[in-house]
Amino acid sequence: MSATATEGVELIDATTVRVLCRDCGTAITLQFGDLDRAAAEKVCQELDRGPRHCPGFHVELSGFRRLWRLDEALEAVYGPKGAEVPA
Ligand SMILES: [Zn+2]
Repeated sequence: MSATATEGVELIDATTVRVLCRDCGTAITLQFGDLDRAAAEKVCQELDRGPRHCPGFHVELSGFRRLWRLDEALEAVYGPKGAEVPA
């Protein structure tokens, strides 16, 4: 495992990231494609909100943002949060 990688988050290519579910450890591949950061954030919010079926065979009512390390995934693809927009 690379020393620079965030634990459980692996950048596959410029817009694809593989995360490990915190609950079951199953690898989930997220493809952001040509989404810009704002659009990707929106997708992550959508993923977090509703009930969802993890490929690792469990269903959660919400909370996939944390379970699937979506903030870390966004950082891996788009860089640290706030880097582009100064507060
Ligand atoms: Zn899972």
